[in-house]
Amino acid sequence: MTQQGTLGIAVIGTGKMGADHVRRIDEVISGARVAAVVDIDETRAKAVADTAEGCRAFTDPAAAMDAPGVDAVLIASPGPAHEAALLSAFERDLPVLCEKPLTPDAASALRVLEAEQRLGHRRVQVGFMRRYDTEFMELKALLATGELGRPLMLHCRHRNASTHPYFTTEMLISDSVVHEMDQSRWLLEQEITTVTVLKPTPNSHAPEGLSDPQLVIFETSGGALVSVEMFATCGFGYQVQTEAVCERGTARVGDAHGMLVNRPGGWGGGIAPDFVARFAEAYDREVQAWVDATRRGEVEGPSAWDGYAAAAVCEAGLRAQKTGERTPVEMIERPAFYR
Ligand code: NAD
Repeated sequence: MTQQGTLGIAVIGTGKMGADHVRRIDEVISGARVAAVVDIDETRAKAVADTAEGCRAFTDPAAAMDAPGVDAVLIASPGPAHEAALLSAFERDLPVLCEKPLTPDAASALRVLEAEQRLGHRRVQVGFMRRYDTEFMELKALLATGELGRPLMLHCRHRNASTHPYFTTEMLISDSVVHEMDQSRWLLEQEITTVTVLKPTPNSHAPEGLSDPQLVIFETSGGALVSVEMFATCGFGYQVQTEAVCERGTARVGDAHGMLVNRPGGWGGGIAPDFVARFAEAYDREVQAWVDATRRGEVEGPSAWDGYAAAAVCEAGLRAQKTGERTPVEMIERPAFYR
């Protein structure tokens, strides 16, 4: 490690998330610095490198990983580029924080699991940031006390104001509902066994060809049910809500974020415009936890196994979306390495 134990990080991908993580490492969290940034778009890489002192810009992830002062890698390129970057990091035995998804499909996620196991020690934390959100951490802690009894159902709502022009019907599952897949496995401590996807007549404000919203239903290994309303073109803002219905009570998070105001004619709070605003603290906590664990020589948080499990559930979700049928999730047995 460089500079009195400061972790030197190479950030791969300097788009919306990557640039925000560079700012976070540079300005918000402690114990780390951005040593290098990488983007296939050289102009973008250089512009982001200029925002962090001592940071060099690269277009090749492997060259950045070999640069002096790089001790760890944060992957924030698009999902299809993750496998190559993860395998390059493993070749150099570098710790990795990999934005979700680990990889876009179960077969490539399995290759990553196998490569990490060949290393003989865990190297990957996956960027499922809801696990670091205060409200979701409170819900997890409450469920763990057993006070409310066994969780029977989770009702989830996931709404975005609008989508990128390139957003597809499939991405509703693989880019968006993937968060509820991880969140449900984590909160319930169960695997998802089947996925069903129901589609109402699309929102007339959704782009042509985008079948939005959708209702996604998971069944789990412990007999719980999860409903997810995924609505990516709601028009009014970004909302992520979950209600756990348990044997002796219910608990709900995500209703209001921040201050509630009374004013003539009404009362209420704000609605975050997007995930960067809503989950800002969770991202800060996630990256700080990764840096702290890495500096201690440890690996914590969502593992490559969690990334693989989400990819396997996504595959079932994509099949369910096409067929309209209740679709079983196909997964390998959890290796002892990830227990
Ligand atoms: P983006 O399109 O804004 O940025 C991606 C950047 O990666 C672009 O600058 C692109 O030029 C660059 N790039 C493409 N291929 C590359 C390669 N092979 N090597 C290096 N750079 C490459 O995308 P984004 O919204 O920032 O998403 C990036 C990642 O973050 C994705 O995995 C996405 O799923 C994830 N994400 C996570 C959250 C979350 O809440 N955790 C939210 C949004 C996005």
